[in-house]
Amino acid sequence: MINCHFHDARSSDGAEPLERHCRSAAGAGIRHVTVTNHAEVLGADGSWQADLDEMRDRFLDVHESVLACRREFPDLSVRLGIELEYRPEWTDRFDRLTRDLPFDFVLGSVHMVDGHNVSGGPGKDSFFEGRPMEAAYARYFRELDAMLDWGGFDVVSHFDLVKRFGHRHYGDYDPQSFGEQIRGTLSTMADRGIGIEINTSGVFGPGSPYPERPILEWAREAGVPALTIGTDSHDPDVFAHGLVEGIQLARDAGWNELTVYESREPSVRVPVEEALEWARSRASGSVPREET
Ligand SMILES: [Zn+2]
Ligand SMILES: [Zn+2]
Repeated sequence: MINCHFHDARSSDGAEPLERHCRSAAGAGIRHVTVTNHAEVLGADGSWQADLDEMRDRFLDVHESVLACRREFPDLSVRLGIELEYRPEWTDRFDRLTRDLPFDFVLGSVHMVDGHNVSGGPGKDSFFEGRPMEAAYARYFRELDAMLDWGGFDVVSHFDLVKRFGHRHYGDYDPQSFGEQIRGTLSTMADRGIGIEINTSGVFGPGSPYPERPILEWAREAGVPALTIGTDSHDPDVFAHGLVEGIQLARDAGWNELTVYESREPSVRVPVEEALEWARSRASGSVPREET
């Protein structure tokens, strides 16, 4: 089993050293992990900052921990990733960062839309206030297209993250209402060789992983080249939360394989059937917890 999206203490919102997360992974019978700390950090003034020198130093430090964990956990494949928050003013330094460091995997994320952080923090509701659902969700999905125009990453994370707090304002949404737009975005991803992720943190927020099943079906039909899976956990005690639901979703959407990237290329392909075996062997019953 694999987890290709999680954060340790070197993300502003994460906790505990990488070693603790790897211990949780090994204890859960997981074989491949990729740590994907946030590139940007929360500054003392409460704003998010992306300073190239700071990021370079911090991710070299993460890389050292990755090498140490490979030695400590010989049965676990540990890889170096990063989660980039798309902002046009940051893309040049992100490109330099990912060129200079030996990343295995780069996630591209839309958290900010029109100056509102739709992923969390104090402004998480302001984006939705006064906007009908159709306008809010369509605007978020358009920002994915802007991020794809840049393209400095391997996989789009949490494709319909807008539902995280949108769900509180409007209830469930139907991806079919945005079908034409979303299919256009997925077709661009297929053309550019960019993959898609199942992010299981949604199980403990809006109630289902990101993205919804029809989007994963359309992604497969469009020829999106890879499906990855990750829990987006920020705490080793909830390292594997939602993976069982995520694997079931991959199967239900008709995907046969989950992919692990290495050196920025799809590398290991894990059959979904094999992942389902892992899921069946897992005892459930841990207490869900929503990340903020
Ligand atoms: Zn994210
Ligand atoms: Zn994340």
